[in-house]
Amino acid sequence: MRLFDLHCDTLYELYQNKLSLHQNNLHVDLQKGNRFSPWCQVFAVWIPEDKRGEEAVAFFSNVVAYACQQFSFIKTKPEAKRAIDEGKCAGILAVEGGSVLGGNIENIARLSNFGVKIVTLTWNGSNELGNGCLSKDTGGLTSFGKEVVRKLYQHRIMPDVSHLNESGFWDVAELSDKPFIATHSVSADIHVHPRNLNRCQFAEIRDRGGVVGINFCADQLGRLDFETVYRHLAHFCDLGGENTVALGTDFDGTTLPPPWNNMAVLEALAEHLCKKGFSETMLDKFFFENAWNFFEKHLL
Ligand SMILES: [Zn+2]
Repeated sequence: MRLFDLHCDTLYELYQNKLSLHQNNLHVDLQKGNRFSPWCQVFAVWIPEDKRGEEAVAFFSNVVAYACQQFSFIKTKPEAKRAIDEGKCAGILAVEGGSVLGGNIENIARLSNFGVKIVTLTWNGSNELGNGCLSKDTGGLTSFGKEVVRKLYQHRIMPDVSHLNESGFWDVAELSDKPFIATHSVSADIHVHPRNLNRCQFAEIRDRGGVVGINFCADQLGRLDFETVYRHLAHFCDLGGENTVALGTDFDGTTLPPPWNNMAVLEALAEHLCKKGFSETMLDKFFFENAWNFFEKHLL
């Protein structure tokens, strides 16, 4: 089975607990992922909300330095293809939290040098760029945040609107007609939650050729079971999202009970979706191809 997962928080857990990416007791490790071929995995570095300014900048560097002792992230299409041909994980760096810039626009070039392909603009709270979906401040992007989005595109880094509040979302949309991404977000029509995308937001991402990754956070889904994941996915497809919907598990970023706490669950999920009537082609789009096409076109 082919797999392209747009979001996991494994690097944070590795760094905090000094674990091995090769084999660990987390949701994701290289051995567990071996069952998928090819396997493209976006590894986000989550920046905790209590880290701002230089502390956030340094935290990112420390996490990446720890991960790079164990693993080489891909930056280009030839590197991705080589990893895939050799049966290895094509791991891609991302950052979850624009606070990683420490309020300094020049740090985007640094992220680009590290090979970062996606920056989630905020987490749940506020930062220098704007306000997350749980912030008391309901305003949109700051002028710094708008400058950041423009500059990210110049560096072929994709702004990620997962966690961003709705006014921030529409500010990102207004800044350009370029595609953007929601790496790990589900449908507000199926379950109302501040993190979820309403149908207008989903349509905006769809019309620009962006992608939306379905995640496994129980609070966002409403409940965590195969049928509920199916309902979110089927609804996005009903909204014309056949080429938009992808997977952004949030492995190691959310508490998951068995069997969801192991990557092998994806095979069981695919089986359920197949029984519900999704064709092999559609499942492959969801589990791999839509995300791959997006990366190939815009980021690699
Ligand atoms: Zn997240």
